[in-house]
Amino acid sequence: MARTAARLPENVPGPFFVDDSCIDCAACRHLAPTVFAPSARGSSYVARQPASDEERTRSLMALVACPTSSIGTEPKLDAAPGVRAFPERIAESVFSCGFTAESSFGAWSYLVERPDGNVLVDSPRAAEPLLARMGDLGGVRWMFLTHRDDVADHAAIQRRFGCKRILHERDVTSGTRAVERKLTGDEPIALADDLLAIPVPGHTAGSAVLLYKETFLFTGDHLMASEDDGLLHASRGVCWYSWPDQIRSMERLLDFRFEWVLPGHGGRYRAPSVAAMKDDLRRVVAEMKA
Ligand code: SF4
Repeated sequence: MARTAARLPENVPGPFFVDDSCIDCAACRHLAPTVFAPSARGSSYVARQPASDEERTRSLMALVACPTSSIGTEPKLDAAPGVRAFPERIAESVFSCGFTAESSFGAWSYLVERPDGNVLVDSPRAAEPLLARMGDLGGVRWMFLTHRDDVADHAAIQRRFGCKRILHERDVTSGTRAVERKLTGDEPIALADDLLAIPVPGHTAGSAVLLYKETFLFTGDHLMASEDDGLLHASRGVCWYSWPDQIRSMERLLDFRFEWVLPGHGGRYRAPSVAAMKDDLRRVVAEMKA
């Protein structure tokens, strides 16, 4: 619960505010970019109060998505419209779960609705309203964990839906020893006709991305759009394992077709075509080698 007494001085006057518990994960800025902004102190703040119903709903979505409950309202507003908005459809049968977890530093997770069983990519916070809505959408058959950092409430969600968790063996830790399927090696692994797991060592030794329908690539922390320029980048600052390996992994993605990049952290990105995405990837590889 955000505390009025800890309200950051940068917040503009009005009902929405950010308090001093903000960890600067940027989730609110992606959800409601006209309201939340980065501050010089390394946090978010309310730069402009919502002025329309749409902005108010987006701000309430940020409030419920915030991993540290650092966003509040005074007087208290009903957050139900923000709760009901998740999972939020991004495109076709791909949803963003919102409800991020502090243990994964506010990483995004995604639900893919499929006739053969839904896939959850990385773990959201196991908040009951979200789990109930995921149940309405058909539950979860597989939980694909892109890497060791964004596993959050994987155990609680596995208990709830009985799903099989998938994680590369190189990223298994004591907390994920019980995952039902451990990927091995560096070759792509077909999980179903429309699902391909592609190991991408670099950010961590066991990082893997998930390609869905040769259209959507769930990239964990391997590749994301920057908040600054909206373009795709890889981050050397958060490369925990091997930058040369991450470059090689990025080059290998040129062998695959996709138009969307859906990351754990940072912004989503959609290229106008597969060819345009390959041009973007070549630029990223060149930037990584520079
Ligand atoms: S979502 Fe919460 S923790 Fe993340 S930047 Fe916004 S206020 Fe801070």
